[in-house]
Amino acid sequence: MEYLCRTCGKKYDDGFKGWRCECDGALWLNREVKFNRGDIRQNDFTQWRYDKAYPIKKEDLISTFGEGMTPLMKEDWDDFDIHIKNDAIMPTGSFKDRGVSMMINHLALQGVNKITEDSSGNAGASVAEYAAKAGMECSIYVPEGTSKGKVGQVISSGAKIHQIPGPREATALAAQLDIEGVYASHNWNPYFIEGVKSIAYEIWEQLNFTAPDNIVVPSGNGSLPLALEQGFRELFLNEEVDRIPRIYGIQAQNCNPVYRKFHGLPEEFDAKPTIGEGIALKFSSHSEEVVKAIRASDGDMLDVTEDEILQGLKKMLKKGYFIEPTSATAFAGVTKLIKEEKINQNDTTVVIISGNGLKASDKILKYLNE
Ligand SMILES: [Zn+2]
Repeated sequence: MEYLCRTCGKKYDDGFKGWRCECDGALWLNREVKFNRGDIRQNDFTQWRYDKAYPIKKEDLISTFGEGMTPLMKEDWDDFDIHIKNDAIMPTGSFKDRGVSMMINHLALQGVNKITEDSSGNAGASVAEYAAKAGMECSIYVPEGTSKGKVGQVISSGAKIHQIPGPREATALAAQLDIEGVYASHNWNPYFIEGVKSIAYEIWEQLNFTAPDNIVVPSGNGSLPLALEQGFRELFLNEEVDRIPRIYGIQAQNCNPVYRKFHGLPEEFDAKPTIGEGIALKFSSHSEEVVKAIRASDGDMLDVTEDEILQGLKKMLKKGYFIEPTSATAFAGVTKLIKEEKINQNDTTVVIISGNGLKASDKILKYLNE
C-alpha cells in the first residue's frame, strides 16, 4: 500500500514505519476505489459488507465485534424531519470502532503485538478493546478527568492507562514521548479514516442508494467530516450518487480551532473547557484537510455555546436517546442551521450520534442538575 502526504505531496511505500510525513503532515492511503452496489456482501450485516471499498477484507479480520450497520432513524427536530445515525450502539459505544477495527486489523496482520495510543477517551477505549481481542499489549493515554466509563473500558481490557493533566495536547505529547511498540494513533494512522468512511456507505444504502442533502457531525480532530467526504466522493466517482452531501462540522465555541481556520479568524486563542470532551482539541492533525473537505462539499463549520450544547443534550435525552454530551454539539448545530435557514424543510438531513451516554452517566446527571 502506498502512503501519500497531502500537505507536501511526498509518497512512501508499504515498508514506511513512521507515523507522519517528514513535513509533519498526515499520511493517507493512496488508492483508487472501484465499488458499485452489486459489490455489497448481501449475507453480511456489518460494515464489512462494503469491504471491496476497503484496504482490508472481511476474510482477513483478526479482531472484530461485528461493528457497523447502526440504525438510521427518522425523527422530528424543530418541526423538521431529520435522520439520526446512531453510532452510540457500536460495540465499544462510539463511531471510533469503524476506524479502530480497520487500524488494529492492519497492525495485527503486520505482526504488531504492542501499541501506544492517545485519545480524549472513546478512541482509547475502542483501541484497548480491539487490541485485547487481537492479543496485543496496549498503552493508552487520556486526559485527566476523562469520563469514568471510558477509563473503565481501558482498564478492564487489561491495557495500561496513563491519565495526563493539562490540555488534550499534553496527552498526545506524553504518548509520543514514550511510544511502546507502534504508535497506533487514530488521529494519524491512515487506516482509521478508511474505516470511518463505512458510515457514508451505510447512510447511502439506508437512504435507498442516495446521498442526503446535509450531514451534521461533531468535529474535533475531524475524522467524521473527512471520512464522510471521502466515502461519498468514492460513491460519486463510481456513479452511485449524483452529488456529495453538504457536510456541516460542529465545534464547541470554547475550543474551535478548525472553525477559526475555516472562517479566517485568528488561530491563536485560549481554549476553555467544554462539556464536549470528545472534541476538546486545540490542535487537529488534519485541520487543512478538514477545511478543504467541508469546502469541497459546499458545507460549513459552525460553533455552538456550552448552553446550546446543553440544550441539545437535554432535548435528545428527553427523546430517549442516551447520547454522550459530545454528540449533543451536532444537535445544537442542527438547531442553529434550521434557525439560520441554512437547511430547508424538504432537505434530507442526517445527524450523527458519535458516542454513548452510558460512558458519561455521572457527568450527564450532573449537567441535568445545573
Ligand atoms: Zn509531507
